[in-house]
Amino acid sequence: MSKEGETVVYSIDHSKMNLKHRKVLQTLSCAVLLAYTSLLVYQSFSRSGRGLSQISKKDNQILKKYNYERNLAQEQSLNELEGSYSSTEISSATATAKPPTTTLDDVFISVKTTRNYHGSRLPIILKTWFQLAKKQTWFFTDTEDQDFQQKTNGHMINTNCSSSHNRKALCCKMSVEFDTFLSTDKKWFCHFDDDNYVNVPRLVRFLGDYNPREDWYLGKPSIQAPLEIVSKDKKSQKVRFWFATGGAGFCLSRALALKMMPVASDGKFISTGEKIRLPDDVTMGYIIEHLLKKPLTVVDQFHSHLEPMKFIRRDMIEDQISFSYAKIKDEWNVVRIEGFDEKYDQNRFLSLHCFLFPQFNFCPTRRKR
Ligand code: UDP
Ligand code: MN
Repeated sequence: MSKEGETVVYSIDHSKMNLKHRKVLQTLSCAVLLAYTSLLVYQSFSRSGRGLSQISKKDNQILKKYNYERNLAQEQSLNELEGSYSSTEISSATATAKPPTTTLDDVFISVKTTRNYHGSRLPIILKTWFQLAKKQTWFFTDTEDQDFQQKTNGHMINTNCSSSHNRKALCCKMSVEFDTFLSTDKKWFCHFDDDNYVNVPRLVRFLGDYNPREDWYLGKPSIQAPLEIVSKDKKSQKVRFWFATGGAGFCLSRALALKMMPVASDGKFISTGEKIRLPDDVTMGYIIEHLLKKPLTVVDQFHSHLEPMKFIRRDMIEDQISFSYAKIKDEWNVVRIEGFDEKYDQNRFLSLHCFLFPQFNFCPTRRKR
């Protein structure tokens, strides 16, 4: 037989085999396709806790329907949101290109407060965003308060700092916040004021883009140019640095915090603050930008009431990390968002929360998109 003939025989055998295998392959492809579709459907459900802020309209509709059909009671819904939060980080790793490495449990959230504000500022936080980070959020105050100790499940920390708004008292509180963070094994330290609303899932997702083993100082300045101070050490030499406004919130990576220890831990944050005679957030900028020469990374999604809240576009709200409010003379500087009557929700945090997380049981309507 010629070589050509052999080739023909082989090719006939091949095509017979192909016919058999084609059926098997078709069946297999169907199975794979089915498994993949199931995975996608499962994912769109399981992502619910990772942050409603980041899911698509379609996903949100699915989620709403899902929640509705299961008729979740509030407590259940809250627990689920909290519980599925870290677990979804794992499940979503199967289909995302970059496996998420940051979970809520990696973040230490500290809120600065004072005894006179417990009654007026803490209840709205406890009702809203605290519910999404109960275990990770700590309140740093200046008195014992049994009532709020109980309401926060023991998350009030009495710094024993003075309860006044002076530089020393504020640096004292920041010092305790910082030392408490260092005593944990958390990857991120995020500070907020008690007039901040924190979009918790968005914060976690945002931090996921950064490596906590690198030096990161993430926040937003409230001035247009770096602060310029005259150094006492080096004869009237000017020192220029940026700082993140404390009232907008800011985060530090653990790597950076560890490098700050010689000038900021064990109470040294207070003495450093005393040296430059500036408030806590400015002292933070001085230590990081000037002493350690690590630059502030500007994050536009942090907001203090030093900027007009009404400029945050409605369609951008879900993407923001923090919000604030203030009453200046007779005018409220608040987020512009529909929802509850101003009588009940002057600072708009309740409406904001329902906009972001409509499944909470005190939220009257399902969000129209
Ligand atoms: N604060 C404090 N001690 C005080 C007054 C205020 O620790 O005596 C805290 C307060 O709880 C808040 C932050 O400092 O977290 C900023 O306070 P506030 O919003 O009253 O003032 P702002 O600096 O924003 O104008
Ligand atoms: Mn404030």
